[in-house]
Amino acid sequence: MTSGPVIARVIVELALDREFDYLVPPELRGTIVLGARVEVPFGNTWKYGFVMAFPAKSELPEERLKPIRRVVGSGSYLADDVIQLARFIADYYACAFETVIRTVLPAPVRRNNDKFLKQKTLAMTAAGEAFLADAGTGAPKQRAVLALLKEQGAMAQRDVVRAAGVTPAVIKALEDKGYVAPGEGTHRRDPFKDHEVLRTEPLVLMPQQAEALAACAGAIDAGGSAVLVLNGVTGSGKTEVYLQAIAHAVAAGKGAIVLVPEIALTPQTVDRFRGRFGDVVAVLHSDLSDGERHDEWHRIHRGEARIVVGARSALFAPVPRLGLIVVDEEHETTYKQDEAPRYHARDMAVVRGRITGCAVVLGSATPSLESVLNVRKGKYREVRMPHRIDHRTMPHMRIVDLRLDAEKQGKPNALSAELVEAIRVRLDRAEQTMLFLNRRGFSSSMICQKCGEAPKCEHCSVTLTYHKVTHKLLCHFCGTEYKVPDRCPNTACGDPGFKFAGLGTQRIEEVVRRIFPKARVHRMDSDTMTRRDAYRTVLGDFKSGKIDILIGTQMIAKGLDFPNVTLVGVVLADMSLQVPDFRSAERTFQLLTQVAGRAGRGDINGEVIVQTFSPHHWSIQAARRMDFEAFADQELAFREELDYPPYSHMACLTVRGEDAALVEKTIGEVAARMEPVKGAGVVMTGPAPSPLARLKGEYRFQLLFRARQSASITRPLRTVLREGKWPKGIHLSIDIDAVDMI
Ligand code: ADP
Ligand code: ZN
Repeated sequence: MTSGPVIARVIVELALDREFDYLVPPELRGTIVLGARVEVPFGNTWKYGFVMAFPAKSELPEERLKPIRRVVGSGSYLADDVIQLARFIADYYACAFETVIRTVLPAPVRRNNDKFLKQKTLAMTAAGEAFLADAGTGAPKQRAVLALLKEQGAMAQRDVVRAAGVTPAVIKALEDKGYVAPGEGTHRRDPFKDHEVLRTEPLVLMPQQAEALAACAGAIDAGGSAVLVLNGVTGSGKTEVYLQAIAHAVAAGKGAIVLVPEIALTPQTVDRFRGRFGDVVAVLHSDLSDGERHDEWHRIHRGEARIVVGARSALFAPVPRLGLIVVDEEHETTYKQDEAPRYHARDMAVVRGRITGCAVVLGSATPSLESVLNVRKGKYREVRMPHRIDHRTMPHMRIVDLRLDAEKQGKPNALSAELVEAIRVRLDRAEQTMLFLNRRGFSSSMICQKCGEAPKCEHCSVTLTYHKVTHKLLCHFCGTEYKVPDRCPNTACGDPGFKFAGLGTQRIEEVVRRIFPKARVHRMDSDTMTRRDAYRTVLGDFKSGKIDILIGTQMIAKGLDFPNVTLVGVVLADMSLQVPDFRSAERTFQLLTQVAGRAGRGDINGEVIVQTFSPHHWSIQAARRMDFEAFADQELAFREELDYPPYSHMACLTVRGEDAALVEKTIGEVAARMEPVKGAGVVMTGPAPSPLARLKGEYRFQLLFRARQSASITRPLRTVLREGKWPKGIHLSIDIDAVDMI
């Protein structure tokens, strides 16, 4: 009688949101493991699935359970902690479990059970050895190959050909003589095949770094799930702290995961990890080929690559003995996935830390208010690094009041006289300039060109959006409609020059070219950067001085280091400030701080010029003074007052479809069914048209919920969604802890 579990609960690759129980046949009882890949009977076909649990008993009587046909591949694909994390995500984000599994296991790993790339290997035979030992000097090429195999052991044929500098004919001759024996090995598809980096040694740490490292090392050694917020200004040496904290984990036999916001935009970051740790580093991100992703995943799974650097989904990497998770730039919104499962990788890193029992480090120059509040509540520990490594002061930030500029120049201008002058000075000195425009800016918010006023909802304090069809201003939080004022609603102003705040990078490019016809100007945004390598090319040109003025969106704000950039201009800070989202001030503060970090990285002091209609706004003023605490105090007070996150959880339910009336009817029905939750500590606002009310031919409406506990929203919402009969062509989606309200 074989011992071991008799029943296995299997998740099958179907969108059914449920697991099925199967009988473990006797021959598999001692060997089948949690996370094993299995083939099971399903209806009258066979399906693949993964073992998610071994329940003691099933809802069905045992004799009705069908047996597992076979185990496919070897070992466990999903460790217990990762399964638990996946369950948590499905529950928390109200998403089907197998949808989560599909995110957790990369497609090439999930689908192919043995897709290692085979290649021919060569090993020396006894006859070969004897021939080599024979003192003769004939057949020097064949001898060279044998000598190589003697030194290296069995090798891939392609490596032998390359290393010995011989033709395949030489190999053929050796094989025919029986001096070498062919075999089969695995060829690793290496994402860095032709990309060598210089090895680096750990730097001697500055006192602030040493302190931060000690905190990280302490957390790793404690083996608990402490969360550290590493709040360090740009250039304070955070990455070096991560590197040494990881070295500490690895020395203790543990592994580490490093999450970075957008790997394609920050190849330098990956290089720094590879430079320090070499092949022990694996990368996981969307730019890999299927083969590379498959092989990298298995390298991690086998314990060969102990350090994983990657985007969002690298959080699920199968690292054995995980000791540390680092989330770099933890405030970035790219950590939130914008399709199901709509998980936030930073938040789930903390959850994985808790489940797995490992330290979590959240690093940023502008930590999210969620993390700040957790520090203030004592849940997370904060370590600060207030100084730049080189002791250079942060660049000087100048705020240009566009209202005054318009008055002086007699008309509003895209570039103020001050910014034009500053660019001219840089051109004369052969220094470089970067100009930023917030891409997510919303051309449908209105703004007074004289006083900077943008009308906001009386109830929600969120900027209103203009809807052409109805010619109304609308709050997309609560749905309240307002008449479009014919003059500025600020009674002290009352100016009739009330306009849309939109401005595009193309327009800025035209203006710049007109004012500086001789300057070498380049524009970089998602329109011009359709090819992947175009990004690298332009940045290369900029770095080597072939471009004087680079105009772009946030795309150019991230992690780049250009010593000759001495001027950074933010063309219109209002574009991020007046985004119809309660986080607009936070995003503006982050953007300005980050942008400031781009200027003056070399020997010359940098300058930042911020153009705005709202020079006195606290996020702009705090960014100018580099006063993160002051900003956090004021912004947290505002959030608490209105009960916005991080003081509450916010969920957004979106209904979309081509038939506008049907969309409205459906969301009305959801709202009616959710009505009872209002008494239970949940605030429901809307329904209202989504800020992008029409997208790809579909109409979109939304309902917003706020509550102290997200479960008091998701639980009833799940029930409503499951029980309702929704018309064809209508799609409902839930976004828990939505980070982007537009
Ligand atoms: P951050 O990640 O906080 O922006 P980095 O880790 O990129 O900062 O450090 C900024 C620069 O300072 C890098 O060029 C890095 O190599 C260098 N640096 C970091 N720590 C030290 C140190 N202890 N001694 C000398 N240079 C350092
Ligand atoms: Zn409102």
